[in-house]
Amino acid sequence: MWVRRRGLQALHYALPDAEGPYMPGIRVLVPLGRHDTPYIGLLMGVEESPPPFPQVKPLFAKLDAEPLYDETALAFFRWLVSYYMATPGDVAHVALPGRVGKIADWRACWRGSPPSLHPKKVYQQLRSYESFSIVQMARRLGLSAKKLLSVVRRWVRSGYAQLEPVVRQPRLRPPFFVEVAPPYLEEKAFQAAWESLPPASAQVFLELLRRTLRGDPPVYSHLRRAVGAPLRELVQRGLVRLLPAPAYYERIYARPLQPYTLTPAQQQAFEQVAAHLQDHPPRPILLHGITASGKTFVYMELMRKFLREGKQVLYLLPEIALTKQILDRLRGTFGEAMALYHSGLTEAERYRTWKAAREDAVDVVVGTRSALFLPLRRLGLIIVDEEHDPSFGQVGRAPLYQARDAAIYYAHLRQIPIVLGSATPSLETFAHARSGKYHYVPLKQKALPSRPPQLHVVDMRIEFQEKLSVGVFSSVLRELMEERLVRGEQAILFRNRRGYAPLLLCQVCGHRWECPDCAITLTYHKRQNSLICHYCGRREKAPAHCPVCGSDRLSLSGIGTERIEEQLQTFFPGLRVLRLDRDTTAGHTHEEIIGAFERGEADVLVGTQMVTKGLDFPRVTLVGVLYADSLVAWADFRAEERAYQLLVQLMGRAGRQGLESHIVIQTFRPETKLFSLLDAPYEAFAEPALKQREKYGYPPFRRLLQVNIYHKDPGQVERQAALWQGELRKAGWGEVLGPVYAPIPRIRSWYHMQILLKLPVRYAYEAVRSQLLQLREAHYRRWGSHSARITFHVDP
Ligand SMILES: [Zn+2]
Ligand SMILES: [Zn+2]
Repeated sequence: MWVRRRGLQALHYALPDAEGPYMPGIRVLVPLGRHDTPYIGLLMGVEESPPPFPQVKPLFAKLDAEPLYDETALAFFRWLVSYYMATPGDVAHVALPGRVGKIADWRACWRGSPPSLHPKKVYQQLRSYESFSIVQMARRLGLSAKKLLSVVRRWVRSGYAQLEPVVRQPRLRPPFFVEVAPPYLEEKAFQAAWESLPPASAQVFLELLRRTLRGDPPVYSHLRRAVGAPLRELVQRGLVRLLPAPAYYERIYARPLQPYTLTPAQQQAFEQVAAHLQDHPPRPILLHGITASGKTFVYMELMRKFLREGKQVLYLLPEIALTKQILDRLRGTFGEAMALYHSGLTEAERYRTWKAAREDAVDVVVGTRSALFLPLRRLGLIIVDEEHDPSFGQVGRAPLYQARDAAIYYAHLRQIPIVLGSATPSLETFAHARSGKYHYVPLKQKALPSRPPQLHVVDMRIEFQEKLSVGVFSSVLRELMEERLVRGEQAILFRNRRGYAPLLLCQVCGHRWECPDCAITLTYHKRQNSLICHYCGRREKAPAHCPVCGSDRLSLSGIGTERIEEQLQTFFPGLRVLRLDRDTTAGHTHEEIIGAFERGEADVLVGTQMVTKGLDFPRVTLVGVLYADSLVAWADFRAEERAYQLLVQLMGRAGRQGLESHIVIQTFRPETKLFSLLDAPYEAFAEPALKQREKYGYPPFRRLLQVNIYHKDPGQVERQAALWQGELRKAGWGEVLGPVYAPIPRIRSWYHMQILLKLPVRYAYEAVRSQLLQLREAHYRRWGSHSARITFHVDP
């Protein structure tokens, strides 16, 4: 049993015969811990003989009659645990969203007739009930459910009451679609029927006519939830009919609602992809489409093909911000049976999609990484768009898995095709496409005729020496911006640093304000007049004096997006500026800012990474990159690749409608090779970069496994990291690099060191994993409470 609780290993429970049969893939309710707290578990397998330890608790209840997940999905979950060294509890946590993992209620009843119980007042109010629901009763008594539960639990322990978890059993049915019955599609017949109906039903009838004519009938069970009684009346009078799912798929996906035509280049790409779909076994397909080539249309044509066959499509995107835009587009084209799934949704919204998937009432899911875990039983195709994006890898919370790679493995298990799309494929994917491990389909023509943006690499040393720049804006950028204003066009300015200034400094004694918990300087935010740590979120009021020497001569150093916004307003009076970064996008304002810029309510959009991705602004003809050097400055073997991808994506924002456009790179190192490659074909970057990877032994030529060592004491972290280095060397699996301090050596007062293990492409990963876990166990045993926290990150 995999219980939905982070960090938990697989557990054993006794299965009461009465409730059988038990099929792997169903959910069960199990007691956990001293209080027998109910948790949802996923039944992974059944063993005939009891496990070799006493005290196996019986489960509370079986939640599904039929498996939610088939053997293939369960095999995928097992692979995630073994390949990414995750715990079953972490995987179950991702696979079963919150609502699914919680029970609704407890039902309590009395045993015998107890004497007066404590607390008296509560007992007296409850004694007359034969049984009662904890949640409902707590509300009636004005208590919290938790409080009432703990009271009743006490009574249970003294033997006077009994508690049972209340479990609702969702039923499993294929969807029906509802549409106006054919005789009433004729105008007169409809009119007559419509006039005979009471207002509520008449309104539903009219809406259904609209949807029927549009070829987009709603799912019956969804509509019933919204307008139960009127709908029943329509069904009883035979004015509408229910359409079974297969008939619906066949008819609805035969043609697009909102017609689109593919350009010849897109059509050709589609045909090439379609030809590879016949392969057995299927191989992943890389669709390498330059920015603004219209990859989405190729995806849509592919979707249509699969939907018509009654199959489901999973469309994975790296960013929550992009999902809504795509979903709206797909709904306009294919109708309603589309759903969103990502971590930005509320728990209820996530549950709704999960349930729709489980009830087979959804055909396309647009989502981020966790959508990979939805129980889609008719899944026929996976699309991973922007496959190169680092957001597909997970940093932070377990399980640490690479969603693109996991999707490829899942497609392989299901024997279904997977399409990876990007303008700037990751070097790993490109190498596989070149070696023939993946199919390669190029799409190298823009959808609309356009000239490539003109590239200007500006040497800021000269700009400063000759006093050409104003604020952070070079003379080139300034002239081009003024030109845009005159023409009524727009500009995007990119800076990968939010806030006003990254550093506050005392000019007298040189004191720097740093986060006491993280090894990083605090960023000054002007609007809040605060110093904020961008890693742990710590926030303090901006000081007036230096705490060391008392001087009030404090100076701000460096420039973030907030300060750029201010400088724009100072140096370009009348310019309308919008800013898009984490500080301006709390809640749903993200879509508002993008919408306003789209409608031309601003001339310039300043922002961080958020401005680089997939956004389509037809009037943008200038992109400025400020402090381009900071993109290449990290000590990571992927830094250059990431910088290249980001800059190409940024360039792709300019000149989408064929207008003359420009990209300005402001740098102190204009000789950086990367900048000159931006207007060359992708291969000019990728070929030499892959040679470097091969020479220095990085993916895809080796595999990496990172060991992270965390400790609050700097001496201990170094000592224990050194021990790990010794153990890893002794094991002899591959080259051992480090330990070194992580790029941010201390976060939330934990010191962080890393060791990188370079392994051959093919290695016995199961053996290596199990020995690593044993090493960690031994380490924890030896160090006890002084032990460092150790985590493993596979394919970092
Ligand atoms: Zn000072
Ligand atoms: Zn901090």
